[in-house]
Amino acid sequence: MSKIDLEGAGFGTLAIHAGQEPDGMYGALATPIYQTSTFCFETVEEGSAKFSGEIPGFCYSRGGNPTNAALERKIAALEGGEACVVTASGMGAVGGVLIGLLKAGDHVICGDCVYGCTDVVMRDTLSKFGVEVDFIDTCDMAALEAAIKANTKMIYFETLTNPTMKLTDIRAVSDLAHAKGIKVVCDNTFTPPPELFPLKLGADIVLHSCTKYINGHGDVIAGAVIGNLEDITLIRKTAVTKICGSTASPFNSFLILRGLQTMELRMERHGQNGLAVAKYLETVPYVKKVYYPGLESNPQYNLANEMLNDNFGGIMAFELNDDINGMDSFTACKKVVNALKIASIAVSLGDPETLVQHPASMTHANMSKEARAEAGIQDNLIRLSVGLESKEDLIADFEQAFKVLEK
Ligand SMILES: *Cc1c(COP(=O)(O)O)cnc(C)c1O
Repeated sequence: MSKIDLEGAGFGTLAIHAGQEPDGMYGALATPIYQTSTFCFETVEEGSAKFSGEIPGFCYSRGGNPTNAALERKIAALEGGEACVVTASGMGAVGGVLIGLLKAGDHVICGDCVYGCTDVVMRDTLSKFGVEVDFIDTCDMAALEAAIKANTKMIYFETLTNPTMKLTDIRAVSDLAHAKGIKVVCDNTFTPPPELFPLKLGADIVLHSCTKYINGHGDVIAGAVIGNLEDITLIRKTAVTKICGSTASPFNSFLILRGLQTMELRMERHGQNGLAVAKYLETVPYVKKVYYPGLESNPQYNLANEMLNDNFGGIMAFELNDDINGMDSFTACKKVVNALKIASIAVSLGDPETLVQHPASMTHANMSKEARAEAGIQDNLIRLSVGLESKEDLIADFEQAFKVLEK
């Protein structure tokens, strides 16, 4: 058993040691992959006690698995939460929170710019079950307050919006919500710890697409929900393991446990690279605007400095000028993205590799131009997830790519 006292330990120590103890069977230091669907009991009495929860243990991997449990302890420790449930995907986490905590007749306030699939669940699925949803800009406190109704049960938003990087003041939203008994849920996928700790700022529930920074290696689809034991138990039992069955795979949990050990190092590097690339992009004459919370030109720079722990992450978006040497910006964006050599053209984010995409022709191509514009996604916008490569090489890659725009 672990000799380490993790009470008050630093983030780096928690990232390596929390949740992981040498295996009871052989003393394996790395948590083994318990790749099993079921667990055997010595006697019927033991099975009975484990099923009823009278004694701790595992019965069937949809309901609980030792590798998943180790990851849950680690993620809970890193977010500073009491408990965590890991899921098969980020959407498994979103669905688990909504199904686990809401009922017919409830009202939800959802941020007006959320992940595409979350938007579909909020807009189309919840209404089928009698839950009402209003979409509000959660950066606008007056609009938020005005949207609260007697049956409002949840305020849901993403810490930083995609792709225009608007930051919600979690403390202000939580103060307002808690005065009215409303739960605050935030999707912290874009600003994971140690960049941002939403629970410390008052949020009740945090969720992640672990597919992104939490695993950080681009080789897993998974999710997590963190909060107090009561909420997480409800989400786990009612939504994740029973109704949706969106339990994480032990193999993926093993990979995420490994990925998390370098979380602090990775996030530091993502932040340093992100800031360097954002500052470089601001100097490029073809670039009209850069959306990145760490730039002084960003209207939320002060709030970002208060909320984010000296790290503004690796995600940004930028817009090209409307007319570049007679070329329209839609064409110009495609040319620049195609000319990049280090950055891979791909959706997702938080990987070691730098990823670039053109939302107007990729992720948001099925929206009308008007709907896109309303969401802040113009034809001239490029989204970037800066990876862990050497920043000089990333900047040089952009320098050579922008040459395609020369006359
Ligand atoms: C990717 C993502 C999700 C969905 O996660 P999956 O792991 O793809 O299911 C949810 N929220 C945000 C902000 C995301 O970026």
